[in-house]
Amino acid sequence: MTKYIFITGGVVSSLGKGISGASIGKLLQLHGFKVNMIKFDPYINIDPGTMNPYQHGEIFVTIDGAESDLDLGTYERFLDIYMNKVNTNTAGDIYQTVINRERMGFYNGSTVQVIPHITDEIKKRFVALKDNCDISIIEIGGTVGDIEGLPFVESVRQFQLENKKDDVLSIHITLIPYIAGAQELKTKPTQHSVNKLREIGISPDMIICRTEHHIDNSLKEKISLFCNVKKNYVIEALDAPSIYYIPEFFYRQNVDLLVMNKLNIEPKKKFNKIWFKKIKLMSKFHKIIKVAVVGKYANLKDAYKSIDESLNLAAAELKIKVEVYYFESEDKNLIEKLKYCDCILVPGGFGYRGIAGKVKAITYAREKKIPFFGICLGMQCSVIEVSRNLANLEGANSTEFDKNTKYPVVKILDGQKSIKYKGGTMRLGNYRAEIKKNTLAYSLYKTNKINERHRHRYEMNPEFIDILEKVGFHVSAYHNGVLPEIVEIKNHPFFIGVQFHPEFNSRPMKAHPIFKGFINAAIKKQNNLI
Ligand code: GLN
Repeated sequence: MTKYIFITGGVVSSLGKGISGASIGKLLQLHGFKVNMIKFDPYINIDPGTMNPYQHGEIFVTIDGAESDLDLGTYERFLDIYMNKVNTNTAGDIYQTVINRERMGFYNGSTVQVIPHITDEIKKRFVALKDNCDISIIEIGGTVGDIEGLPFVESVRQFQLENKKDDVLSIHITLIPYIAGAQELKTKPTQHSVNKLREIGISPDMIICRTEHHIDNSLKEKISLFCNVKKNYVIEALDAPSIYYIPEFFYRQNVDLLVMNKLNIEPKKKFNKIWFKKIKLMSKFHKIIKVAVVGKYANLKDAYKSIDESLNLAAAELKIKVEVYYFESEDKNLIEKLKYCDCILVPGGFGYRGIAGKVKAITYAREKKIPFFGICLGMQCSVIEVSRNLANLEGANSTEFDKNTKYPVVKILDGQKSIKYKGGTMRLGNYRAEIKKNTLAYSLYKTNKINERHRHRYEMNPEFIDILEKVGFHVSAYHNGVLPEIVEIKNHPFFIGVQFHPEFNSRPMKAHPIFKGFINAAIKKQNNLI
């Protein structure tokens, strides 16, 4: 029998609902429960795939090819599970389903309305993981009070009414702001937010208070009294040095026991604190490696969330710390700035802006023998760079940036019967690749069969493989023997480009092999070993 935990947020956005939900999930997992999580985003886009990273941050790709919210990356990393299409929902997608059904005459002449038709569809999706897990944690995106969020919160109300009391738990996450002038933490915004929830018919069982300062007993009493929540169910969520500390912060406040108590469930196994210990060990290091990420959204770390996580997780396993510098590829002083870094990563992206700078950064990394890692567009830029500067194919380009280039070294391939395109013309989700022996890729993965997530339209053009191999640029992995998946330069300490997104497969204590190899090469470079 699956139990349900609903997470809503109040006062402001960006309170870390995903992290709080995943932290509770982690604790329940450590008690032996099979936990899964579902995200509901109230915007009208069918998925965030078309949104500007400035609006939305990173697009996380699930193994079955859904373009989703970056919270799904948090769920995967905390719980060490894989997300699928069922784990991500948007208002747009839900409305589209209902409208399509209406057009097919499904509703037998009735007026199609938010209640019950949209709310029924939402509730159907609440139970999408029914019987596949013991506890399903459902995060409602946005902030309580938003107009577009109303059908979702209404659906939670109905769901509570229709299910047994101890099968459903509601957690509200709010902000307790600190007013510096008065030197006081303020509970009023939380009171208003909970009032808003209660107006809609939901009385939260637990309130998690995001705060920069410790919440004392009297403040907890106040929140408890005004928000109608028992005092021990008022939880403090102080800003943490690492997000992975949060499960332990919650554990110390008995969040796991309180949740299990409300849901009327007993732990399935003896709780083991080893995960906490391992997490603590991850942040004890002092030696610093400086990583340059040369991208298009340098001001927005969230645009490269999984890359940032992957670098940090790889560093922790190598017992060092990374400082990640995000450089705008159009920065005039880019090369000057790169001189202060130990390694260079060019991430994925779309569109022409910034390509010249990325290619310049790759020339620098290649010539100066700086460890280089190109991801998706970064890999494609390495193909362009080497074609132009090593193979003398002047003006070589991707047809994404120059339709009429004489040397289309990256292009949309037609006639690739082996590829089943999804989501328009994109190659999305997991695809297998076979790695050749005696390559850098093989030495990192230590296997010849891999499965990695994709999100791109263009491919390295196989017609140019022979020319590029002659100048020392090799394809070390293929999909179905035809599509280049990994490229590398042999005569270089560490130069690798991948057509996929390995950053989605990093986990605490299970860093991704390429990220680990990349940081390891940077350590060697710093120690003048390469
Ligand atoms: N724009 C490139 C393509 O569509 C790369 C995409 C990416 O980096 N995710 O192929």
